[in-house]
Amino acid sequence: MKWLWFKVLPKKVQVFNWKVWKGVVTVDSLIQTSISFVSKCSCCSRGCIEDLDHLLVHSDTATHVWEYFGRACGVRCISNQNLFARQGMWFSKASHRSQMGIITGMFPSIISREVWKVRCAARFDKYQMVAENIIHRVVGSLQSLMPKLKCSKQCDFSDSLSLQILRIAKKAVRYKPIKVVR
Ligand SMILES: [Zn+2]
Repeated sequence: MKWLWFKVLPKKVQVFNWKVWKGVVTVDSLIQTSISFVSKCSCCSRGCIEDLDHLLVHSDTATHVWEYFGRACGVRCISNQNLFARQGMWFSKASHRSQMGIITGMFPSIISREVWKVRCAARFDKYQMVAENIIHRVVGSLQSLMPKLKCSKQCDFSDSLSLQILRIAKKAVRYKPIKVVR
């Protein structure tokens, strides 16, 4: 859970993901608990019932997005995972020390938020959600957060490869100055 509130993440992303964990994001399945209507998601051509697990993990669009970043970061996507299991798996591979470790911890929150934003735009403008568009936005969002990152561990070879695939510049490691006690 600590990664949901990670200080580098924008407030809006933190709050959105907190709502996701509380199950209060207004997807169709939540509205259906008070109003009866037929749900048709915006994320697949076949039009499924929209709930959070579907929209953020199992839909054609979300599957494509998670698999893309899973390949880039070396995190396996298990297809029958629900959202919390999926996010938890990424959090378990995250680390506060290295650049890729921090990125891995921020990914679940950023992916969910960008899928949601594109879903809302798709609902409003009635177009199909496109995974490549979300991938592009997630990478852009990560790139904009890089100046705020502080890491204490050098990138290893596989981290360097992941950063290259993600088109994110490698950050210099900041060493704490050693205090000399006289
Ligand atoms: Zn769908």
